[in-house]
Amino acid sequence: MMDSSSGVNAQGRKTMTCINCHKTFAGGGIFRMKQHLAGARGSIVSCGKVPPEVRHAISVTLKDIFEKKKEENLGQKIHLVDL
Ligand SMILES: [Zn+2]
Repeated sequence: MMDSSSGVNAQGRKTMTCINCHKTFAGGGIFRMKQHLAGARGSIVSCGKVPPEVRHAISVTLKDIFEKKKEENLGQKIHLVDL
């Protein structure tokens, strides 16, 4: 699934452009784009043009990523305790 295109802006920063609403974001990468498409509250303006089924699929993916990150953080804490 293609949901964004990447490029570089005038400041030399990597940019991602949403193919649905054509908003461009500098920095943050694919994770930020996914937050935009999923309509994640607080951190970024949500996409007004993304189809509902795509939005749902991406929010599920994002949830998976958060769960994984939580596990990783937990693993690191345990590792620190071992030291
Ligand atoms: Zn968009």
